[in-house]
Amino acid sequence: MNTNAFRTLSYGVYVVSTWDRGRATGCVANSAMQITSSPATVAVSINHDNYTNRCIADCGRFAIAVLSEQTDPSIIGTFGFQSGEKTDKFADTAYAIRGNLPVIEDACAYLVCEVIDKMETETHTVFLGKVVDADVLKGGDPMTYAYYHKVVKGKSPKNAPTYIPEETQSGQKWVCSVCGYVYDGETPFEELPEDFVCPICKQPKSVFEKK
Ligand code: FE
Repeated sequence: MNTNAFRTLSYGVYVVSTWDRGRATGCVANSAMQITSSPATVAVSINHDNYTNRCIADCGRFAIAVLSEQTDPSIIGTFGFQSGEKTDKFADTAYAIRGNLPVIEDACAYLVCEVIDKMETETHTVFLGKVVDADVLKGGDPMTYAYYHKVVKGKSPKNAPTYIPEETQSGQKWVCSVCGYVYDGETPFEELPEDFVCPICKQPKSVFEKK
């Protein structure tokens, strides 16, 4: 099987949020799609290991914030590369309550859904949601998953449905061991500045490895 075929499918980048017993939480997802228009339903796929999965199941509702190319990439680091069980991901993120759910502000648009069904796969739960509220936020150009890889130079967390293990690449580049961000220096072996912080996951220079 040639997994490059999977890369030809189109995806967006989303923050899926819900309540954890009254506390806002969420994670990044790239597998979200509209299933029907009337009534409007959407599906989203969330890894069993994502804390957000059980929170959606308990809450019975979820919101999808559509990220744009103008969205601060650190949103992906905050929501995509750490667990909401131990971290308050909304602590330093602007959000508002929309359709009774916490929704980040730095997004194109959002949808709020009521879970009407779910399907278990070996690794992920596919939640089917009836859309109960939706609106455009900042607009802008919706971020595609391809854009995220090419321009933001991010990688998939291991929990992403689209995660494909990559062979260790030779060559000499500074790579963030947390989120996979590749540092584009002026010269190939340029040292990272002392105060360098990963633009995606906000981790310090010390987590970067030369690969
Ligand atoms: Fe990083």
